[in-house]
Amino acid sequence: MNDSGKHLTHGLSDDPSAYIRTRDTSSEHGQTRDLSYPPLPPALVVPVYDNHAHLEIADGDNPLHYREHLDRASAVGVRGVVQVGGDLETSRWSAEVAAHEPRILAAVAIHPNEAPRYEEAGTLDDALAEIAELAGRPRVRAVGETGLDFFRTPDSGRAPQYRSFEAHIEIAKQNDIALQIHDRDAHDAVIRTLKRVGAPERVIFHCFSGDADMARVCAENGWFMSFAGNVTFKNASALREALEVAPRALLLVETDTPFLTPTPLRGRPNSPYLLPYTLRAMADTLGTDVSMLAAQISSNTENIYGRWDDEPVTSPTPNPAEFE
Ligand SMILES: [Zn+2]
Repeated sequence: MNDSGKHLTHGLSDDPSAYIRTRDTSSEHGQTRDLSYPPLPPALVVPVYDNHAHLEIADGDNPLHYREHLDRASAVGVRGVVQVGGDLETSRWSAEVAAHEPRILAAVAIHPNEAPRYEEAGTLDDALAEIAELAGRPRVRAVGETGLDFFRTPDSGRAPQYRSFEAHIEIAKQNDIALQIHDRDAHDAVIRTLKRVGAPERVIFHCFSGDADMARVCAENGWFMSFAGNVTFKNASALREALEVAPRALLLVETDTPFLTPTPLRGRPNSPYLLPYTLRAMADTLGTDVSMLAAQISSNTENIYGRWDDEPVTSPTPNPAEFE
């Protein structure tokens, strides 16, 4: 929007909502959750980015506005976030927030577990067409999360899941933006699909869940591996072995907010400001300095998505006080 006068007359109605979904669990793996947000960790010296979060999902007993998530993140050296959609509504919200908020870039997609639902309703093609349109918007720098999920979706949902994944790969290529992959219990099928359809230049395995062999396959293909809070979990030795094998130039870090809160805060609501726990655990596994790792990951992140200030926000978030 170039017309700032128009923006002012719209005032608050242009401001995206604080959040549009609510996480529906008060327990995780049968354990009652502590629903309070944890205190801020010590700040990182060298800043880093959270390349996968769902700030549209309210969690905890006192849900945070997306700007509060970002303010806390800024305070600890997490300088930017890729906000990720999983259906039409959350993808629209992601693109809208990115347009207003300099600390956000957006990813848009129909999640692999949503694709069969759209197909059943007869609306998958329309949904994919809208994702293609959103992918061309300013500050939308990735198509995601898309991919294959054989854990949640039964066999009957596989055909639309494949069709949707293939369409998303094409959308990423057409717009020359990154592809963020959700791969749950589907490593081989995801890899085969990428090779068959032709992978975009920049591919990220979000919440990387493979072992060292899978990390080698990603390395051979130049695919990025984004590690989430589960790399800190006690039983995640295979993930840590993958981390050790992955070339540093292909490493990313993410929170997957509000899920996968890192040790020692497992089960509490997650937020980009808790990313330092995961980064520090990764540096520990790799026997490297946290700042060196942060510098490498920041540079990787900017190579994939571009810089957060490449494209200005199209209309600043209104200050509520100005409209009272
Ligand atoms: Zn996610």
